[in-house]
Amino acid sequence: MSNAILAQSINRTTVGHALRILRREYAHNATALNALNKASVELSMTIWSFDGETLVLESRTTIGHKYTVTAQGCDGSCKARGSHWHLQAFELLMRAARIAVQPAKPRMTDEQYAAAVAACDDLF
Ligand SMILES: [Zn+2]
Repeated sequence: MSNAILAQSINRTTVGHALRILRREYAHNATALNALNKASVELSMTIWSFDGETLVLESRTTIGHKYTVTAQGCDGSCKARGSHWHLQAFELLMRAARIAVQPAKPRMTDEQYAAAVAACDDLF
């Protein structure tokens, strides 16, 4: 599946789900957790685009400047080091995209359903 399709699958529900998962994962990493929380706020206020591989964020402080974030990190114009909201925004969107395309849990086959109904019937 192409990354463009992954990016198109992102919506509020998948981002919310990804946010909950990442917050749990970062429960013992205050720096990452703070960066993630800032990313969730900044993504709602900043103009950005994401194609499944590259996140482009318009700077809110320097008019016309754009930061580019990929799996390798931020472009050279970013002065932040370590875990910061640009990287967490990228991780959040990637996670949301992956959640969106996860297959639903396998359902029972007709035979399994019939066996379950029969087992219930045996109880009464
Ligand atoms: Zn950055």
